[in-house]
Amino acid sequence: PEPPAARLVTAEAVSDWWPRPGPNDDKYTRGVVGIAAGSEQYPGAAILSTGGALSGPAGYVRYAGAARDAVRTAHPEVVSARSVAEAGRAQAWVVGSGLGTDDDAADAVRWVLSTDLPVLLDADGLTIVSRDLHLLRDRRAPTVLTPHDREFARLAGDVGPDRIDAARRAARDLGATVLLKGYRTVIAGPDDGPAYVVAAGVPELATAGTGDVLSGVIGSLLAGGLAPAEAAAAGAFVHGIAGRLASEAGPVVASRVLGRLPEAVGRVVS
Ligand code: AMP
Ligand code: MG
Repeated sequence: PEPPAARLVTAEAVSDWWPRPGPNDDKYTRGVVGIAAGSEQYPGAAILSTGGALSGPAGYVRYAGAARDAVRTAHPEVVSARSVAEAGRAQAWVVGSGLGTDDDAADAVRWVLSTDLPVLLDADGLTIVSRDLHLLRDRRAPTVLTPHDREFARLAGDVGPDRIDAARRAARDLGATVLLKGYRTVIAGPDDGPAYVVAAGVPELATAGTGDVLSGVIGSLLAGGLAPAEAAAAGAFVHGIAGRLASEAGPVVASRVLGRLPEAVGRVVS
């Protein structure tokens, strides 16, 4: 049977999906997102990823890793721990940007994948699972992978000309939701649900660190309870709008995309 056609993501759809707090919510019930990103060498990835998470619906952002001082300085509302195991309970984990690929990084990836929580893997997290795809295939809880084309190739072979088909194939094969980044970002889940295409962004987003912001906001949506494909699609949409707003103001770098993210969410989510 033919797969369902891919859906172009609209602001209305994102607004419908976006979790909002109710009168009886508290910071825990809104969702706790854990972020294991960055390192002594790459503290910026930790700042960008936790910052992205602060623009999502989760009530609590926890950081685990070596860039604790940098995160604390950039975002006083983020609570830090040394490792994922010490960070306390979360409803979703985001792992990988700037994390490195040493034994500690691999341990963090294996630890989060052994939980029954939604996990988003990006960047070095993708590199680590590329070496052992059973870490993904053996998992029952939702996993979201956010590769660019080179990361995708290491996970599932060359993207090829049909990006939607490539994302669908990889998602089935790996048992994960795959967000394939690009001018048009494509999202496919492992099951029969729709694939999504996000066309909100601008080419100026092709600059270091913007993917780290994206991983954080999607993680916050996962912690807020949104299903994986919709969390990925909604996160990519508001990230694209933030990139557009940043590009209208001047040269785009990742921290300016992060700075525009609250405004992007405010415009889309009404
Ligand atoms: P990363 O490769 O992890 O740094 O992530 C780059 C981010 O920029 C992703 O959100 C991509 O979708 C976005 N991006 C990269 N190149 C383009 C492009 N040519 N047009 C629009 N968005 C892009
Ligand atoms: Mg990246």
